[in-house]
Amino acid sequence: MSLVIAMDGPSGSGKSSASKGVARALGLRYLDTGAMYRAMTWWMLNQGVPVEDGEAVAARAAEPVIVSGTDPDGPSIAVDGADVSGPIRTREVTNAVSAVSSVPAVRSRLVELQREIIGSGGIVVEGRDIGTVVAPDAPVKVYLTASAQARAARRAKDLAADPGASVTVTQAEQERRDRLDSTRKASPLTKAAGAQEIDSTQLSLSEVVEAVVRLAKE
Ligand code: C5P
Repeated sequence: MSLVIAMDGPSGSGKSSASKGVARALGLRYLDTGAMYRAMTWWMLNQGVPVEDGEAVAARAAEPVIVSGTDPDGPSIAVDGADVSGPIRTREVTNAVSAVSSVPAVRSRLVELQREIIGSGGIVVEGRDIGTVVAPDAPVKVYLTASAQARAARRAKDLAADPGASVTVTQAEQERRDRLDSTRKASPLTKAAGAQEIDSTQLSLSEVVEAVVRLAKE
């Protein structure tokens, strides 16, 4: 297998920017698995599926056709042929995604798709279970963290267009999402065996990228 870099960590740890930066620096593809869980969640909400009902979600999990691009300069995500890059970032989707991603039928479907995209490698993959479940043999595994405040401030900036998305509200919603993601039964967020932990609280984006590139070159 050629190079696979697994980038896991909680929301707002800087995974997306760092993963794209590493992919660009090393000329690799880039896969945002969180966008796939968001796309599945967007579709469920759009179909009127009650997202807190695991059985209802599982019953429909095979239906949406989710296509994810791998260009770090223009990541794209489509559901049933329609681009959903914007709609998957709303607070409604963000606050529903943990319920949908805790459903085993959703996870097994998306993990299969993710492994198809990873193929023979040459890719940076970001998510919550990449080093533990999706690609446990990845030669480079990173667990990216940051203080709760730094993470909330980053997310609030992402949501700047959304009224009500203050740092305090965002921090509370993020803590809830991280708690759900790390305590669920199916593939909870946890540091993978052999993963290198990087705390990005005091690091610039380019310092994080450099640290991962160094690991990849070891
Ligand atoms: O990375 P992002 O914040 O966009 O991920 C959205 C959600 O998707 C996470 O909160 C988590 O519930 C789910 N997720 C997951 N496994 C992954 C990636 C994301 O369960 N590999």
